[in-house]
Amino acid sequence: MSQPEKIEFQTEIRQILDLVIHSLYTHKEIFLRELISNASDAIDKLRFEALTHHDWAPKGGGKIRIETDAAANTLSVVDNGIGMNREELISNIGTIARSGSKEFLKAIADRQNAPPELIGQFGVGFYSAFMVADRVTILTRRAGEEKACKWESAGDGTFTIEEGEKPETGTTITLHLKRSKIDDIVDSGEAESDREPDFTEEWKIREIVRKYSDFIQYPVTMMVQRDEPAMDAEGKPVPGAAMVKVVKEETLNSMKALWARPAKEITKEEYQEFFKHLAHDWQEPLSTIHFSAEGLLEYQALLFIPGHAPFDIFTPERHHGIKLYAKRVFIMDDCKELIPEYLRFVKGLVDSADISLNVSRETIQQNRQIVQIRKRLVRKVLDTLSEMKEKNREEYIKFWDEFARVLKEGFFTEDEHLETLKSLLLFETSADPEKYSSLSEYVSRMPAEQKEIYYLTGESRAALENSPHLEALKAKNYEVIFFTDPVDEFAVRSIGKFDEKPLKSAAKGDLDLGATEEKKPEESAKYSSLIEFLTGRLKEQVREVRLSKRLKSSAVCLVMDESGMAAHVEKLMRQNNQAIPAQKRILELNPEHPLTEKLQKMFDENRGDPRLSDYADLLYGQAALTEGVPLPDPVKFANLVARIM
Ligand code: ADP
Repeated sequence: MSQPEKIEFQTEIRQILDLVIHSLYTHKEIFLRELISNASDAIDKLRFEALTHHDWAPKGGGKIRIETDAAANTLSVVDNGIGMNREELISNIGTIARSGSKEFLKAIADRQNAPPELIGQFGVGFYSAFMVADRVTILTRRAGEEKACKWESAGDGTFTIEEGEKPETGTTITLHLKRSKIDDIVDSGEAESDREPDFTEEWKIREIVRKYSDFIQYPVTMMVQRDEPAMDAEGKPVPGAAMVKVVKEETLNSMKALWARPAKEITKEEYQEFFKHLAHDWQEPLSTIHFSAEGLLEYQALLFIPGHAPFDIFTPERHHGIKLYAKRVFIMDDCKELIPEYLRFVKGLVDSADISLNVSRETIQQNRQIVQIRKRLVRKVLDTLSEMKEKNREEYIKFWDEFARVLKEGFFTEDEHLETLKSLLLFETSADPEKYSSLSEYVSRMPAEQKEIYYLTGESRAALENSPHLEALKAKNYEVIFFTDPVDEFAVRSIGKFDEKPLKSAAKGDLDLGATEEKKPEESAKYSSLIEFLTGRLKEQVREVRLSKRLKSSAVCLVMDESGMAAHVEKLMRQNNQAIPAQKRILELNPEHPLTEKLQKMFDENRGDPRLSDYADLLYGQAALTEGVPLPDPVKFANLVARIM
């Protein structure tokens, strides 16, 4: 047999272990849920691989056994799942294979007492064992391999790995529990209430399994001791004889496939606990969608809309949340074909009697049943959201604040449900500083003569509220939508119209507010020479200079083409190193502003007045600043202002 090899954990794992051991105080019992979940996943994986390697199937079905030894103060979780070989052990347990653990570190770095449930969510579940154990041993044998492997660590920065003895495939994880034994406590004077629960006690284990792992679809068993009447040779109780101690195996969980039961029989608590187990979440879901389809295609779906977004929802390696089962047999996690990207926040599962167990990631795309199920899931989720929006605005706002940006991706990919997506939109507007509005609410408030739905895009409400682009609209009492999410700039192009009314940017193109606002034709004549001068002076910066119909109090503003991109988005894209062509804007001049008139006068009096060029630069500078467009030469601008002051 080989010598144990000592290996260092990756730095990040060391940090995680450190946090787990020193910072997480409450709910230590969740370690058992994490280990049982891992065991259950391992059996799922083996059952799946057994579809192609028939002799690998777990003997007697998948089983998770909990073994305790009060004398040795140990607890083991034994599974007959897929097991791990040496390489897998090292990479799965010793290094950060996935981004989850890193994110975990980031997320809890600034919290003194992070909720331990975070551990599960961030997929560092196994390490939670070190909350209750000062040494952990893994003995494991991978399906299809002869040799077993033994891993051991005290959570102190290193682990050892060596060959082990294990007759069966699967994994045994043994925790050498921290809890001081009664005798030690008497000596140490430790207060009873400070002590950790005894995780070798049957009732304690039973309680934890019931609470967290009841739905695990494999039996979680334990040997229990019972006092029973003595039996005679024929199996009948012996009258008058003393009770005898009998040891027998008991299943602790109900194994109910919750989704297969009729919805009306399931309690809210049952759904919630199931969601927490399924999603590794610690909060309640916002909404539960449970239905079954019968007829040509039979399946059950149990979906949840979570209360908060996972940390990785915008990373490329993000997960989708739908698991696929076929007749209760787990087929795959993260089934992207069942739900479109823009609904990837939905968690849950689909179990179908009509899906072949052999369906693979490669063939699933062409699978007709999957396509059909997906259609129905999308409909159901969107209907649920619509209903939430109508009937429970508070909940919907919670949803919106967490997932709006994901949902809006639908505007780029979804044709069929575009109208529904539009109706799901919420935004702030110039009319109400407090509340979100929807498009239909906006439309219901439109004055009769208003033909278009006006919006502005920008970094924040505060940045938009004082925008010069709003002036004429405000004067007419037209409400303006504030789109403050960077994706809005693009999403709005897919929105196009709502209720036959086109969406119109208050900052782009011509703003035609109807005949009453038409400028007198002589005005254009009056300022034509000034405009010509400004166009020449500012030709590097702007495409055009023209008189404005949108300004009331400001002297100038910058305007884009209908197809142009808002300044804040331009900035964001540059920050992300995205190449975007330089955009020239249009400078609009307020014909009613005294400045315009004075400039024209100055120009008429002396075309060669050197101040004219400075004033032109100042005008442009002002407009650029309010628009959030970078100044061509900030130092020069500052000097100009200083000089004039
Ligand atoms: P997670 O379960 O969220 O992936 P863990 O830290 O709990 O994160 O486990 C890391 C990995 O170790 C798992 O993804 C799995 O590959 C492996 N693993 C853990 N427990 C077992 C087990 N009982 N049998 C087989 N593999 C396991």
